[in-house]
Amino acid sequence: MPKAAAIHDGYEETISHNGHRLTPQRREVYDVLLAERDHPTASEVFLRAKHRMPAISLATVYNCLETLVACGLAKQVNVDRDATRYCPNLEEHGHFVCDRCGGVTDVPPTKGSRLEKAWRLPPDFIVTHSEITLRGLCPYCNT
Ligand SMILES: [Zn+2]
Ligand SMILES: [Zn+2]
Repeated sequence: MPKAAAIHDGYEETISHNGHRLTPQRREVYDVLLAERDHPTASEVFLRAKHRMPAISLATVYNCLETLVACGLAKQVNVDRDATRYCPNLEEHGHFVCDRCGGVTDVPPTKGSRLEKAWRLPPDFIVTHSEITLRGLCPYCNT
């Protein structure tokens, strides 16, 4: 995925632009997010990061995730009342949530579609961002 690689190359710059130091922990947490795009929770990121960085703590993982979100390198995704999940995909996209397995998949918008045209927005309302969640069954559960 060349796009992800490009974002990753700019990681150090992005994080220092925002007044944060690039720590090995932050890099590890970001690498975990990029490695598997399944929208893990902080606990899941913690378990994955521990493989390569056994000394890392859950509190550190929370801090790293907070920093990545503050720098705009990751977004928080909230589904129902579940634990917050994290998504490093910075392109505009919605999330498909499987009602059976709970899997969260990125869904890109149709090319060229404008949000303002998809909804009958009352006059003088301005959309600044969107959080679109589609629900149903994923291919694994749809059998
Ligand atoms: Zn996502
Ligand atoms: Zn499923």
